[in-house]
Amino acid sequence: NTFAEIDLGEALNLNIQRCKYVKPTPVQRNAIPILAAGRDLMACAQTGSGKTAAFCFPIISGIMKDQNIERPRGVRGVYPLAVILSPTRELACQIHDEARKFSYQTGVKVVVAYGGTPVNQQIRELERGVDILVATPGRLNDLLERGRVSLQMVRFLALDEADRMLDMGFEPQIRKIVQQMDMPPPGARQTMLFSATFPREIQRLASDFLSNYIFLAV
Ligand code: AMP
Repeated sequence: NTFAEIDLGEALNLNIQRCKYVKPTPVQRNAIPILAAGRDLMACAQTGSGKTAAFCFPIISGIMKDQNIERPRGVRGVYPLAVILSPTRELACQIHDEARKFSYQTGVKVVVAYGGTPVNQQIRELERGVDILVATPGRLNDLLERGRVSLQMVRFLALDEADRMLDMGFEPQIRKIVQQMDMPPPGARQTMLFSATFPREIQRLASDFLSNYIFLAV
């Protein structure tokens, strides 16, 4: 019951130690092995459960394994390998801060994009390179419409606090975003959906976006 027992790679394990995480929380203990095995996941998790690390660790670890992936340049903006969608700017910034600590000295680059601020600075930041893009749905759609981001290379998609995103009316934006990831080969994308509640709308989202997924309630 330690992080070292889960094979996340040396650099990431070092960062976990630096963050003073000793024991995985229940959601981490259950979700990380499922995600590390490449399965899609729908997880019931509250704020404070440690869910951020539960989806960040497998994403960072997965990207470290294929860091040499060739990515097209410039033609249709930047090409992140992972997208984390979050309902609010505050939550997106929190995830960004944590993900940056976890990815310290791994070569994995994390960028955040949210609405309510001028888009140009975020575009410049993105142009310096991005592996993991943490974003609110509205701003990511804006960036897609401007041709600044392409989702063609996305291998990991995490939806955090999915119920809150639906409550805030983001469903159409989320669907537009995910549509742009549905590129061949099928099954190339690993999707993880985190939500505190599981109303019918979330179940529908899960059956539309996840394939052959594992349901986890801790
Ligand atoms: P979250 O639910 O992801 O927002 O995490 C809640 C808080 O718990 C954050 O401040 C994390 O840094 C912290 N945390 C997450 N996992 C662990 C862990 N395994 N050990 C100690 N603290 C943790």
